[in-house]
Amino acid sequence: MEKLLQETAHRAAAYLKDNRDRPVAPSPEAVHALAALEEALPEEPAEPAAVLALLDDVVSPATVCMTGPRFFGFVIGGALPATVAASWLATAWDQNAALHNVTPGPAILEQVALNWVLELLGFDPNCGGALVTGATVANFTALAAARNQVLAQAGWDVEADGLCGAPVITVLAGEEAHPSMLKSLGMLGLGRNRVVRVAVDGQGRMRADRLPEITGPTIVCTQAGNVNTGAFDPIGDICAAVQPAGAWVHVDAAFGLWVGAVPSLQSLCPGLADADSWATDCHKMLNVPYDCGLALVRDPKPLQRAMAITADYLPTTSTERNPSDFTPELSRRARGVEVWAALRSLGRSGLVQMVEDMCRHASRFATGLTDAGFEILNDVEFNQVLVSFGSSEQTLAVVKAVQQDGTCWCGSTVWQGQTAMRISVCCWATTDQDVELSIAAITRCARAVRSQ
Ligand SMILES: *Cc1c(COP(=O)(O)O)cnc(C)c1O
Repeated sequence: MEKLLQETAHRAAAYLKDNRDRPVAPSPEAVHALAALEEALPEEPAEPAAVLALLDDVVSPATVCMTGPRFFGFVIGGALPATVAASWLATAWDQNAALHNVTPGPAILEQVALNWVLELLGFDPNCGGALVTGATVANFTALAAARNQVLAQAGWDVEADGLCGAPVITVLAGEEAHPSMLKSLGMLGLGRNRVVRVAVDGQGRMRADRLPEITGPTIVCTQAGNVNTGAFDPIGDICAAVQPAGAWVHVDAAFGLWVGAVPSLQSLCPGLADADSWATDCHKMLNVPYDCGLALVRDPKPLQRAMAITADYLPTTSTERNPSDFTPELSRRARGVEVWAALRSLGRSGLVQMVEDMCRHASRFATGLTDAGFEILNDVEFNQVLVSFGSSEQTLAVVKAVQQDGTCWCGSTVWQGQTAMRISVCCWATTDQDVELSIAAITRCARAVRSQ
């Protein structure tokens, strides 16, 4: 085992070093070479070292450098060094992090990490929390607590009696809600299509003045960080408008939650702490490895009512926090390890610096590309930049040319009818120089497309 793991460390380090320098997108040849994996099921065992070599030789060159400093496609982030290392060690532990008294180490790490997150955000330290696979499941988890609570207020126990015959829940969401929010609502039996959509402004922010009157059990799904513009719903105004009538306000803050921890950015999202629940991704801006989402709920009781199970063979103690009392999963990996490692290695100041740097880089992209003569379509206040290079065809041609050039990687989107290149800055490793190299590459590609 020791030799194998040393060999793995060697290969992984070489991969990560290479990630800084090689083209961000893999070569077509490397992608074609993946066909070597489509072999018949082996009849006989193989040496673990040979399995590892096959993996590294065939698959590493075919990966997109998502942990590299110049990957700006999607808001996904890389992985901080301490988190990669912690993840390896935790894999060696192979703990089933469901119950405190069976896996006390991961349970404590998770509790500490949750406490630190709440402290960083200035949230109530008694909030409930669940570390899950990603923001989709974090939305699902928090909305399950919301569903429990708004129906409990109407005298209905949804976990025991289901939705058939239950009082009707009204669900409101902005026109720009992320599709994963609608999926979560669908999985909860609240329906993707029966959601009442609320109008948004030019940056995709829900308009608090367009909220309907609240009657009966109601859940309002807001957003902190639009995937295209990075804009934030006016969460404080929305809470003030609907909470007095008993509505539950949930925030999909998959990548936007961390502004709450950064004094210079808190003004982007006034009232963030007033909501009833929040979902975020630690595998995005916090830069931990996949997969790691986080649901936070102001009152832990409805979350626990929605998620806890008991069985005679499952040992529980009443005083300690069992992670699985708050999560959809029972068996689960020790996700808190990497969140703890990220925060333990960054400290408060490191986290603030990392998020501020992302915003600074985004703003530099906006000025650099404006100066080069291209149009920025959004107000660049956070980490997102939308660029138009003329017609839809021209913009898509530039995106394709940039991906082929390999200096950096950006995707495309359509923002309120206009095709755009989408730049998401969210990796800890991105430096000023990476941004300059990328602006130069994008400009070069755009001029080449224009001259054709
Ligand atoms: C990424 C994202 C999601 C989905 O997160 P997953 O981790 O992919 O499940 C939901 N909402 C927003 C705003 C996002 O950016």
